[in-house]
Amino acid sequence: MNNIAPYAADPAHSIGRRYPEPAPTYRTEFQRDRDRVIHAKAFRRLEYKTQVFVNHEGDLYRTRLTHSLEVAQIARTVARSMGLNEDLTEAIALSHDLGHTPFGHAGQDELNACMKASGGFEHNLQSLRVVDVLEDSYADFPGINLTFETREGILKHCALKHATALGDVGTRFLNKTQPTLEAQLTNLADEIAYNNHDIEDGLRSGLITLEQLQDVPVFAVEYQAVRQQYPDLQGRRLIRETLRRVIGCMVVDLIESSRAAISASGVQTLAEVRAQPVALMRYSDTMRQQKNVLKTFLRENLYFHPTVYRMTWRAQKVVRALFEAYMQDTRLLTPKYQAFAKRYEAENGEAGRARAIADFIAGMTDRYAMREYGQLFDLAGLR
Ligand code: MG
Repeated sequence: MNNIAPYAADPAHSIGRRYPEPAPTYRTEFQRDRDRVIHAKAFRRLEYKTQVFVNHEGDLYRTRLTHSLEVAQIARTVARSMGLNEDLTEAIALSHDLGHTPFGHAGQDELNACMKASGGFEHNLQSLRVVDVLEDSYADFPGINLTFETREGILKHCALKHATALGDVGTRFLNKTQPTLEAQLTNLADEIAYNNHDIEDGLRSGLITLEQLQDVPVFAVEYQAVRQQYPDLQGRRLIRETLRRVIGCMVVDLIESSRAAISASGVQTLAEVRAQPVALMRYSDTMRQQKNVLKTFLRENLYFHPTVYRMTWRAQKVVRALFEAYMQDTRLLTPKYQAFAKRYEAENGEAGRARAIADFIAGMTDRYAMREYGQLFDLAGLR
């Protein structure tokens, strides 16, 4: 990579891994992180997990996997153009959603409700738990033993009550310091990706319309410009042409506003980036405002749409029923999770058992969870 900025994360000076390992021969530490994420079971499961629409509703909707790839692609553009570390950026982008439950936010909210008396459930913390504990493919350590910098990037936010228990990666929430610029930008790339692909998927599903989107300035301006330039353009092509421009505007705004903030701050080193009172990766005020209008639009018109709500309702029912069944009788779990339930229960009582069950449910794909629900509760299927 050319023109590396002095404040970029440097794989040769990584804070390190939880279990020390010899340096890789032909890769940097961050390349190795990225490669380990791609080889993880949890990464392959993203293909069958809901973003907004349940996986089987249509082949063209985003899944958590395609979402993560879009985030990585946007984040790498920003990283490269700003002289930041692309490998770290990609490792964070590809792993940021590993802890998501089946059925998107509906699944996570219900699992959190089930876990209320047992420490709660939060997908960010769970992503970290996947890479630190739950993956089991290496002889020398549990998890995939990623570097501090990737783990810190995965933990986008964290309630103060969890921060102390998390140790090294929790510290910045207590000290109010910043993560690497690579972590900061990946967080914003996540938003750019979902805001835009949720519009496209929302339009495809017919739950939102182009007419409604005329109230969203960041979309409407580009839409009108495309119409003017290509009066005959219609359908999917018109939508795609508009959205590629919206993504472009957001990315350019992010790069330029962040460059200005970095230069105004005078930071020269990563240590100085960390010591800043606020994140240096940012949008302009205008873009931030416009982005918030878009987010509100999507929340009100798509995420809370009655059709999506029906899916949410069913997802909650499935998650709740599975959780309760396993809590009642851990013999319904797979042997691996039976062993976890036993071990955690010995350490932490009922809350320990609940944690093993939450790990098992969070790891499920949409279709696995539905099949499991069918097997346990659809007695009509028995002969
Ligand atoms: Mg995401």
